[in-house]
Amino acid sequence: MDHRLTQQQEALREKTREFVNREIPDEVAVGIEEADQFPHELMAKLSAEGFMAINVPEEFGGMGGTVVDEMVFFEEISKRLPVLSWTAGDIILYGNNIIKTNGNKAQKEAYLPKLVKGEMLFCFALTEPDAGSDAVSIRTSAVEENGQYVINGNKMFISGASVADIAVTNTRTADSKYGGITTFLVDTKSPGYNAMPIKKLGYKGSDTCEVVYDNVRVDTDTILGGRDCLNQGWPQMMRLLNGERLVLSACALGIGERILSELIPFVKERTAGVGRAGKYQDIEHVVVEMATQLEAARRLAYYAAWMVTEKMDCVCETSMTKYFCAETSKKIALEAMKIMGDHGCDMNCNVQRFFRDVPILSVGGGTSQIQKNIIAKLVGL
Ligand SMILES: Cc1cc2nc3c(=O)[nH]c(=O)nc-3n(C[C@H](O)[C@H](O)[C@H](O)COP(=O)(O)OP(=O)(O)OC[C@H]3O[C@@H](n4cnc5c(N)ncnc54)[C@H](O)[C@@H]3O)c2cc1C
Repeated sequence: MDHRLTQQQEALREKTREFVNREIPDEVAVGIEEADQFPHELMAKLSAEGFMAINVPEEFGGMGGTVVDEMVFFEEISKRLPVLSWTAGDIILYGNNIIKTNGNKAQKEAYLPKLVKGEMLFCFALTEPDAGSDAVSIRTSAVEENGQYVINGNKMFISGASVADIAVTNTRTADSKYGGITTFLVDTKSPGYNAMPIKKLGYKGSDTCEVVYDNVRVDTDTILGGRDCLNQGWPQMMRLLNGERLVLSACALGIGERILSELIPFVKERTAGVGRAGKYQDIEHVVVEMATQLEAARRLAYYAAWMVTEKMDCVCETSMTKYFCAETSKKIALEAMKIMGDHGCDMNCNVQRFFRDVPILSVGGGTSQIQKNIIAKLVGL
């Protein structure tokens, strides 16, 4: 088994690092976070340099990369500005992946070339006020009327919903639990679509919104995959899950790596010349545990990604990865804040910025508890 990155993937990592160092010095990252505004300018720069093409088939103007390429990109961006990985996900995950995996020919031709150039933004609207982890209980309805569908309902915590051009909207179209969900590609300019941003703890600038659908009328050809895919929303979503969990895991790895790279020089400096080696050896051992767990998380993540690219059954491994990477980075953030003491609480300290972002990674894409439920079943409990 060879899980090393290919030359192209190493080049992508280098190109992403170079972009981050050139375009996002820390003061720019801090400014975006403080403004709490969607980073349109940086998104345009990412698109101009071809990053939005990484996972699109070559026939639609893309680079034809796999989930490993996606992870490399998201990991590197997350080391500097986690929210930019989230907003890039509005194209790479919620646009490219959804359309290339589930779209019909007309939808691929209409959307992929524009997504590659960053000319469109998508958002993915699944969660509702009373249906988060239990996503199959969504109640937003789509009812057929005069050859169209009329959508009514509320969605919660939808990233990018007020800036997106297309809201990939999951609705209930029949009573059957898993067989009654249909996904529509809703034009956000449609009358009756309203998105209201929510202020939140971390990932500031990702435009997370409550969305109201008030008699939003859509044509039947906006069903994801076309009219034959009525009531196919649930299996369509299942095809995307492994990839989304791995990309979120890569975001957690990036955050963990960045925190460690801030913490190690701090620990070295603070211990120098102080004669309390026992105490500081304790601290060193905590840092060593962090580094070891992060390395284990990285190995698990890229191993699971390799399984995806080999088309192996890896639901258990991707859930283990999502759970372990998110929880490891959360632990690293908390321990780093403890070790840094008052320095960590200073708003000029980079670690507090990542500390506020990291909890969301164990919520989105299925919480850690939900990953544990999946793993429990798959290990035979
Ligand atoms: C910043 C941010 C961005 C988001 N972006 C999007 C987006 O773009 N699109 C979208 O559709 N959604 C989005 N979400 C929503 C996210 O997917 C949900 O928050 C997540 O699925 C959990 O749902 P919930 O918050 O309603 O929690 P709940 O489902 O209400 O769960 C509450 C608590 O109970 C636990 N729990 C629930 N069920 C079980 C169970 N069976 N066993 C054990 N424990 C359980 C959970 O783990 C959690 O700790 C976003 C959320 C955040 C915070």
